[in-house]
Amino acid sequence: MNSIEENLSFKHQHLLGIKELSDKDVSKILDLSERYIEINREQQKKHDVLRGRTLILLFFENSTRTRTSFELAGKRMGADTINISVSSSAIKKGETLIDTAMTLNAMHPDLLVMRHPNAGAVNLLSHHIQGAVLNAGDGAHEHPTQALLDALTIRRHKGKIKDLIITICGDVMHSRVARSNLLLLKLMGAEVRLVSPPTLTPTGIETLGTKVYHNMEDGLKDADVIMMLRLQSERMQGSFVPSTREYFRFWGLDANKLASAKDDAMIMHPGPMNRGIEIDSEVADDITRSVILEQVEFGVAVRQACMELLASNLPPKGDKNGI
Ligand code: ASP
Repeated sequence: MNSIEENLSFKHQHLLGIKELSDKDVSKILDLSERYIEINREQQKKHDVLRGRTLILLFFENSTRTRTSFELAGKRMGADTINISVSSSAIKKGETLIDTAMTLNAMHPDLLVMRHPNAGAVNLLSHHIQGAVLNAGDGAHEHPTQALLDALTIRRHKGKIKDLIITICGDVMHSRVARSNLLLLKLMGAEVRLVSPPTLTPTGIETLGTKVYHNMEDGLKDADVIMMLRLQSERMQGSFVPSTREYFRFWGLDANKLASAKDDAMIMHPGPMNRGIEIDSEVADDITRSVILEQVEFGVAVRQACMELLASNLPPKGDKNGI
């Protein structure tokens, strides 16, 4: 395929959620990410795909992996990368999100990555930005680049996604990772199961084409992939679990519960991990099964691929209606 056809086949201005992607879009991002994995393993990691472009990172919630990953991705691709610290910005002086968006837009960013505690906030911002907006997590709604890097990790290990049994376990209710993964893995033809305590299961989630289990052994039976979720206390209003000790006993992944899955089942976690709450150190650190650090590695590559595709769709510089 030549580059014009390639660009035409990825038509999005923003990356706001998995919901707006097709299976072809996902495959395209994953294929391009493979190239970046190779480049990132070389000594010379820097190139100029985004040279001349400005990348702004705007995080209203804490982050280690996602923020570093986007920043590194931008820098390795030659973009001028700006990190806005929300705690020392005008947002703290009462500026609205729309005013912040319009202010940043006036500086002509090409790519803007945002994380926000409210579902829908990134979408709202995107209406006021002429460049490309990437969602780095909005409340319990979506975290598309996490799902894409998870899919890439699974595809590299299992050679496919279609027809695999993938079990997502834990605090599904508050997890944007669960939601984006469910959408993406279903789109790519996997059987996706959810295992969560009844108090942490969103009502009606089955309508997205998944089966909910309230017992780890049943949900993990014959699973090819196990994706553990963090217990997200910062999003909980009130008490959803009696105690973290009891939570670990029933819902934490340990060697005993793992025995229900296939012998070669992969163990995943988006991080940050709460050891001894949703996952036992013995399984988290089992290098024959756990791919948690590979997820982090592939995250950089996926973000590079997403930014390359979005930047290639931006109108050329100098276009008065563009940026
Ligand atoms: N890092 C992921 C997120 O931002 C998962 C988590 O925080 O538990 O959603």
